[in-house]
Amino acid sequence: MTASHVPAVSEPADKRPITYFGPDFPFAFDDWIKHPAGLGKLPDDKLGSEVAIVGAGAAGMVAAFELMKLGLKPVIYEAARIGGRLRSVPFEGAEGIVAELGGMRFPTCSTAFFHYLDQIGLETTPFPNPLTSASRSTVVDLAGQPLYAEKLEDLPKVFHEVAAAWAEALEHGAQFSAMQAAIRARDVRRIKEIWNRLIPIWDDRTFYGFIATSDAFMRRSFRHLEIFGQVGFGTGGWDTDFPNSMLEILRVVYTNCDEDQRLVTGGVEQMPRRLWKMQPDKMAHWPRGTSLETLHAGAPRPGVVRIAPAAGGRFAITDRWGATREFPAVLVTCQSWLLTTHIEVAEQMFSQKHWMALDRTRYMQSAKTFVMVDRPFWKDKDPKTGRDVMSMTLSDRLTRGTYLFDNGPGKPGVICLSYSWMGDALKLLPLPVEKRVKLMLNALKQVYPNVDIASHIIGDPITVSWESDPNFLGAFKGALPGHYRYNHRMYCHFVQNQLPPQERGIFIAGDDVSWTPGWVEGAVTTGLNAVWGILKHLGGETPKENPGPGDRFEELKPMALPD
Ligand SMILES: Cc1cc2nc3c(=O)[nH]c(=O)nc-3n(C[C@H](O)[C@H](O)[C@H](O)COP(=O)(O)OP(=O)(O)OC[C@H]3O[C@@H](n4cnc5c(N)ncnc54)[C@H](O)[C@@H]3O)c2cc1C
Repeated sequence: MTASHVPAVSEPADKRPITYFGPDFPFAFDDWIKHPAGLGKLPDDKLGSEVAIVGAGAAGMVAAFELMKLGLKPVIYEAARIGGRLRSVPFEGAEGIVAELGGMRFPTCSTAFFHYLDQIGLETTPFPNPLTSASRSTVVDLAGQPLYAEKLEDLPKVFHEVAAAWAEALEHGAQFSAMQAAIRARDVRRIKEIWNRLIPIWDDRTFYGFIATSDAFMRRSFRHLEIFGQVGFGTGGWDTDFPNSMLEILRVVYTNCDEDQRLVTGGVEQMPRRLWKMQPDKMAHWPRGTSLETLHAGAPRPGVVRIAPAAGGRFAITDRWGATREFPAVLVTCQSWLLTTHIEVAEQMFSQKHWMALDRTRYMQSAKTFVMVDRPFWKDKDPKTGRDVMSMTLSDRLTRGTYLFDNGPGKPGVICLSYSWMGDALKLLPLPVEKRVKLMLNALKQVYPNVDIASHIIGDPITVSWESDPNFLGAFKGALPGHYRYNHRMYCHFVQNQLPPQERGIFIAGDDVSWTPGWVEGAVTTGLNAVWGILKHLGGETPKENPGPGDRFEELKPMALPD
């Protein structure tokens, strides 16, 4: 699988794939990063200058990689491990068998992310989502009734009605097919026409409100709404997102983030780790063989505790062991709550409106619990029914989503016993891993009374609650109604020509800054916005034939709502 999802100009507009193009800022990041002219050029006296990058996740690592190619010397500070929320934890005792604790399923619309995956030579396979051939079979266990299906058509009529109601609600409430046609065609005018009408209507309202007040669901039953919340379509339950702003859900479905998802073979953490080691062929200033790793003598700097102004518009960055270094620019990619809880940041560096946005950002919680098993035993057939003995399972029980990973012949399998969000994740927060595994096995026993999952477990289980990790405080942003203005302030901050001088030179990027939190493409593309911002801040220029996101900002910028 390669990044060849990027539309070829020769293809008719209706045949082009849906990609992550807008709707808020329809800039073709995929074209920008692969253009032969490159991303820009710095003045000679700036070549080799150090710039600070706080955080070695997807946003920080992509930005550092591109800034190195431009001839700068990124100095990456990382409080924990390279990868951030792309975290693939190996099971003890097995080679290359991992638990994907953060991002794990990557939609092919993520063309910037796949560009980097391709460059570093990572392979992907279809993600075993419910009702896809990659998962073989699915059990939907609702209200104590497990239903076995290999595809949507195998499920009872009510599920088809729910799917039809969702499609109808999207069509009537959000001009779904018109927007998808505009995204395929990369028709900026049309995208803006549709989206700018919807922003003021749906910024104030929840996902639940959208569904519950749609004709499509109102003329059906509460049961339809409930099934939609528990099972959803595509990747599983949606009800944990019900309080979110509907705009956030529309972005996901318009751009097909919820479809055609891939799993990175061997673990997605390899993406930032390989970028760290990669030696690009074409670079300004640096000799062949230079990588982020060689520029850092093998390891990132420690976590940051202080960001303060220094003389001449520079920034003084202090790490947790007290060492302070000065930089002409800094990019912060950690979660924004950390700027008021873990890092002492001089207040003057952001306007009060920006501080408000950084602090009002709301995080969703998420917990996952994985076990390694001796083999993919779920593929065994039940002699009585002829069905798989166990399947990808969507449930209203504690487990919510159970995913099965076949690592190939002669290799142990992996089960994500439970992937949950919000209240379902909080229920587990104080519980140790053993207890979590037992609870999940017990829940699954109700669904599969004849399968002894525990007898297949080998090695130690692995679990995570992102909200309990001091370097994250939550899994990812989930904007609430009324948050559009906060998203807008954070996203547009990379274009700094209107900011007062004391607020320039510090950039923010990552999942929090993105319009599509919880999807790595948003983190990657905000990192690219920051690359443009830093290039400009240091007096650089983009090539005429390859204008960057800030060069086209006036033409493409997200609509502003009045304060
Ligand atoms: C549970 C979960 C499931 C997800 N599922 C998907 C999915 O299926 N598909 C998808 O596309 N995306 C998914 N995502 C989203 C994706 O993982 C994120 O968008 C992306 O990894 C965020 O990258 P980032 O660089 O913005 O932030 P991060 O990865 O959080 O990087 C920020 C880094 O900053 C570091 N840091 C914190 N404090 C400091 C400090 N004081 N000094 C220095 N460094 C510091 C952190 O340790 C971290 O490494 C998921 C995320 C989670 C948590």
